[in-house]
Amino acid sequence: MAHPPKSKFVQLFERDKGRCVYCGMDLTADYDRFMMATEDHLVPASKGGKGRELENLILSCMVCNRLKANYIPESIDVAKDRRKYIATIREYIYKRRSEKLREFMQVTHPDQSDYR
Ligand SMILES: [Zn+2]
Repeated sequence: MAHPPKSKFVQLFERDKGRCVYCGMDLTADYDRFMMATEDHLVPASKGGKGRELENLILSCMVCNRLKANYIPESIDVAKDRRKYIATIREYIYKRRSEKLREFMQVTHPDQSDYR
């Protein structure tokens, strides 16, 4: 029996080796991790991106995708320097991550003055 055609998502998943391109999370570890895998649009359609073309997609975990939100490295042309474009997004995500970590500590350790 022939294999069914691979969905765009599966093609993306395979190209990016099942890991979040931003934080490296292994999205094949178990089913819940797999369910955290999202397609992130490098350039949103509203900014002239090519929608669901594979070259405009990147595999991202739900957490990184949420932290990235609407951020775009405006000054970098993704067509000219894709690596730098992605690295700049990664930097932004890590900055947001530490801001959220502070909030996390405030709610989980409200008595520790360091996090107030
Ligand atoms: Zn991630």
